[in-house]
Amino acid sequence: MSRFLSDKYQMLKAYTPGEQPREAGLIKLNTNESPFPPSPKVIEAIDSSASAGLNRYSDPDAAWLVKAISRYYNISENRIIVGNGSDELLAFSFMIFQNQNRKIYFPDITYGFYKVYAEVFGADARRLRLNDHLTIDIEGYFNLDGTIVLANPNPPAGTAVSCANVENILKTNKNNLVIIDEAYVNFGAESGLQLIEKYDNLLVIQTFSKDRNLAGARIGMAFGHEEIIKDLHKIRYSFNPYNLNRLSILAGAASVSDKGYYEMCTEKIKAVREKFVSDMENLGFFIIPSLANFVLVRHDKISGYDYYIALKEKNILVRYINEKRIGDYVRITIGSEEDMEALTEATKEIFDRGEGLR
Ligand SMILES: *Cc1c(COP(=O)(O)O)cnc(C)c1O
Repeated sequence: MSRFLSDKYQMLKAYTPGEQPREAGLIKLNTNESPFPPSPKVIEAIDSSASAGLNRYSDPDAAWLVKAISRYYNISENRIIVGNGSDELLAFSFMIFQNQNRKIYFPDITYGFYKVYAEVFGADARRLRLNDHLTIDIEGYFNLDGTIVLANPNPPAGTAVSCANVENILKTNKNNLVIIDEAYVNFGAESGLQLIEKYDNLLVIQTFSKDRNLAGARIGMAFGHEEIIKDLHKIRYSFNPYNLNRLSILAGAASVSDKGYYEMCTEKIKAVREKFVSDMENLGFFIIPSLANFVLVRHDKISGYDYYIALKEKNILVRYINEKRIGDYVRITIGSEEDMEALTEATKEIFDRGEGLR
């Protein structure tokens, strides 16, 4: 720490992203990326037209991309904003959507970034306890007095709330903004997007990182009432108007145009998830039912940490989250069929040889 850092950031604990190893040959199942390449149309778009024009700034409205999203979802353009990853849109939201008392409510176990944003932007984080099935107790979110942020499905377990329950939260919080982070929604949960026209207190945030195979392109999007979207634009223009680069605008639009490829990939992940869960249950794992592209697993015979290490020694990277209530689990991203078979094989070996068992 330098002596120049503002007091208020001296105690800040930054978010720890999952490892992004540089060496090849690892099976990487730790950050919920897609195992598949982006749509061939994305590659084409970047190759053919993108490099021309890089001497110019990108379009601050990312109009090409916003139009494509608008057409895809049949939602008007003034209800859409795109960001440099959904992380940026979440950060803006924590920054500007705090009411008088600055309270922001979210689950005690959820996307690790929320508590960091709350701290950076001086919000009063109120963390509501998930129940023992690591699921959101919906009534706990009725009639609150602050902004509400819910990831749906909620990591690291991947449990989800129904659209009807999202609507119940909206109805009982007319004066609070309700932000639904749908990073994983298209792996089987219900989206709140259909409520956008009906409720002016809803902001739905999605990303191209997980189900659109574009984590490295850094593209997120948010949908809401046009006044909410205007607020987000205002802060974006006060911060970084060219938040999406030229290549990502083109890549995103091309990805949205290839519906068939996208649906094929998500269907594949869902099928691999079902097979993987059943294989792991046969090995004696306890798994919380997940509607996302990851599962949280635990086994009586090995601690979460030891299992993480044993897999790492076999060149398989999963996520160990050293936090209360989930410290005995590891979170495993659903990769390709081959990845998951390699993981179950490695697990059998770990058990056969008694590596790290308790
Ligand atoms: C991965 C993830 C994000 C971040 O997505 P980016 O668009 O890559 O910034 C946001 N929210 C949740 C719940 C996530 O898991």
